[in-house]
Parts: sequence; structure tokens; C-alpha cells
Amino acid sequence: MEREIHILVIPYPAQGHINPMLQFSKRLASKGPRVTVITTTSMSTSMAAMQESSAVNFETISDGDGSNEVGVNLASIVEELERFKLVVTKSLAELIERQKSSQHPPKLVIYDSVMPWALNVVRQLGVDGAPFFTQSCAVNAIYHHAHQGSIQMPLQTPSSVLSLPSMPSLGINDVPSFFIDTASYPALLKGLVNQFSNFQEPNWIFFNTFDNLEPEVVNWIASRWPVKTVGPTIPSMFLDKRLEDDKEYGLNLFKPNVDACMKWLDTKEIGSVVYASFGSLAALGEEQMAEVAWGLKNSNCYFLWVVRESEEKKLPGNFLEATAKKGLVVTWSPQLQVLAHKAIGCFMTHCGWNSTLEALSLGVPMVAMPQWTDQPTNAKFIVDVWKVGIRIKVDEKGIVTKEEIEMCIREVIEGESGKEMKRNSMRLKELAIEAVDEGGSSDKNIEEFLAKLALS
Ligand code: UDP
Repeated sequence: MEREIHILVIPYPAQGHINPMLQFSKRLASKGPRVTVITTTSMSTSMAAMQESSAVNFETISDGDGSNEVGVNLASIVEELERFKLVVTKSLAELIERQKSSQHPPKLVIYDSVMPWALNVVRQLGVDGAPFFTQSCAVNAIYHHAHQGSIQMPLQTPSSVLSLPSMPSLGINDVPSFFIDTASYPALLKGLVNQFSNFQEPNWIFFNTFDNLEPEVVNWIASRWPVKTVGPTIPSMFLDKRLEDDKEYGLNLFKPNVDACMKWLDTKEIGSVVYASFGSLAALGEEQMAEVAWGLKNSNCYFLWVVRESEEKKLPGNFLEATAKKGLVVTWSPQLQVLAHKAIGCFMTHCGWNSTLEALSLGVPMVAMPQWTDQPTNAKFIVDVWKVGIRIKVDEKGIVTKEEIEMCIREVIEGESGKEMKRNSMRLKELAIEAVDEGGSSDKNIEEFLAKLALS
């Protein structure tokens, strides 16, 4: 009898990594194979609800003594990479040994690309491995060039321009932040470049993007390595609607106030609300917070602003009272539902890759306020390549002023160029749906991969 294919999927325990890999797992499982997502002890409680009702199975392995929290804090992520490697090398190997003698021996382990060492671990046990990259294809290509030594770091002169194959030329403000400030997070930079340390070896390499979004650079990389685009990894309900139970991500780091957000949005007119959120990690300085606050107020638009609990104390003292009629400030939102709401007219964002893909897939134009890591590069594409947003200029002190914020919001919500951005966003939304729908590029890549895996 033909054996069912069993695939193990191991994400790195940070929200921006877990959700895309979980979504990919659901897609895989919808096509027949048995899929087991390996959670680690530090994140299993946050995912408990998800595990009760899901098309995928879960196994938990140890990633430490339980004292560490899922990637909430940056310093911990940096330290974690090395410690994670030590502990997980052992616990992953033990799990695979156990699974090999079970009724469902695994055929492939899909591991987060930030843990390239997993390939050796699993191959030594006779199971193949394939990395999953959570960032954009352009950003992956940039780190690949850095690994090849073709980018001299740190990039210094303000006029430094990077000309890389199949990519628009990138100015100093468009490259991942670590290339300029190489000393800021050396362990992170090393980890990101190291994703490519064994790029030649896997038989499959998965990217969370889609062909029509980054056609040139996808073409460049996929003609050299077995790269498969499989995104965007957004719950099916918001895209092709083929996976009936796939309505939300599996993991929410913080508890969103769903009712408060949705009821408030329901009372607002189409396209009249600015949604502002800077993701799960970015922390603005107090002065910058105040500029954002007054910029939102002065735009005179309705606004829904996510200010995480750890950031709340930086809000100007009289702000909430002064804006009670116009604004709603929450500590966490159901972002997908919010972006899908017809009241939203623009998304003021830090351009994290998940937020970017969500806005593109739901057709929401953006006000880009990148902070660090891959966000400047995503902003470059949002503005100059996809033309679905405007980038807020930073002044000579490194601050984004309230006047600049107000102007950018007004441009997207009311201006002529905003209308063009909206049209471009709607076109990309169609392309995103097409990619994951039956016969689309990402769907075909998944089908072809599974067909080959079955024969291997
Ligand atoms: N998110 C959310 N509620 C919020 C803010 C963010 O659910 O109030 C989600 C958002 O939908 C996205 C993720 O958090 O999936 C943020 O990921 P991204 O890559 O954009 O940024 P990061 O947090 O990694 O900087």
C-alpha cells in the first residue's frame, strides 16, 4: 500500500515566522499529506487554541527551560539564535528518531531559513530538509549577495547605490538597516547572511512571496536554485476562500480587542479611516510617538492606532482626551479583519513583510514608515515598484514630523496620487488571489513539489 506522505514543519519561535509557516502547513495539508508542525516549549501555550481545531498536527519539543518568551523582545531574539540551535539540534533529532519508527515516518522537514543547520541534523538521520524563507524575495537576494561577498559592509556614503541583478538600484535608505549600521545587531546580521551558508544544498527552497509580485528577482533566483514561491501565506478566507476553516492565523502574541475595533469601524464611512500599526517589535522614541500622535490628529481623518501596552506610556498626556471623537487607540488589533474592512482608507505601517503582504493582498494603500531590518527595502518596493504607497520623509534629526505625517495621510486618503495607489493596490490584490487560487503560480509550485516528493 502506498504510504501517506508525512511532512514536518519547524518554524523559529517568533510571531512573524510562525504564522507564515503555519499557513503554508495548512495549504500543504489541504492537498493530502500529513503535516506536523513542531512547536517549541516557549510558544506552545500561545498556540494552544489553534491546536484544538486544525488540519495539521502538532508536536512540541523543548527549546529551553521555559523561561524565555516567544520573540517579544529583540535582545532575547539575538541571544536566542545560538541557544536555540544548541537545544533544538538535540530535541529535533530525538523527535525524528521517534517519528521514524512510528506509523508515519517523515519524508521531509521544512525548517525556518534562520536555522540552516537543521538541514544537516535531519539529513544525518536519513530525512531530507527544505528551508522556508519568511522575507521578500528581494531581501533574500540581497542577503544572498552579501553572503557571496558582493556587498561591502557597512555601506557608508549617503550616495551609495547598490546595483544588484534583476533589482531596482537601491539607495542608502533602501537597503536592510543592518548593512549601514553593521554594529547594531551583529548577531542578527550574521544570522540573516548565514541563511545562505548552505543554499546550494536543499532540493527545495520555499519563499513567502508570489511570482507576479517580484517577477524579475524571482526569475533570477529561481533559475539558479530550486526556489519555489508559495505565498502570500494569508488565511485562505481573505484570498481564494478554498480552505473553509482557514479564517485566521494560528498565533496572536497579544490579545486583540476584536469587538471594539470592528464595531467602531462599522460606524465609519468607506475609505475614511487611517489604520496605524508598527508591528510586534518596533518601539518608537517618545518624541517620535508624539509626532505620530499629532500627525494623526491633524490629518483630521478617523484613525485606529495600535499602541502596544509597552508603548502606551509614551503617548502625549492629553492625547486620548483630545482625540476621543476621531480616534481609537488599542493595544493590539485583529489586523487582517481591520485591513479587510471597507472603512479603511490607508495603512500607516512599519512595512514588516507580513503587514506588507497583508495590505497588498487586501488592496489597502500604504503610508510607509520603515524602522529597521528589511523594512526600508519593503518600503522601496511599496513606493517605487508597486506604486501602492508613499514614504514618509525623515528629517535631519532622524524624526518624522507631524506635518510630514499629516501630508502623507492626506495624499493617500484624498489626493490624486492616492487614487492611483488604490487602483494599483486593487490590481495586486487580484494577482495575490490568483497566485494561491487553483492553477495559480504558488498553487502550482506546491502541487509540483508534492508530486515530486511523492516520487522521491
Ligand atoms: N498584527 C496584528 N495586530 C496588530 C498588529 C500586528 O495582528 O495590532 C499582526 C499583523 O497582522 C502581522 C504581524 O502582526 O501578521 C506583524 O508582522 P510583520 O512582519 O508585519 O511585523 P513584525 O511584527 O515582525 O515587525
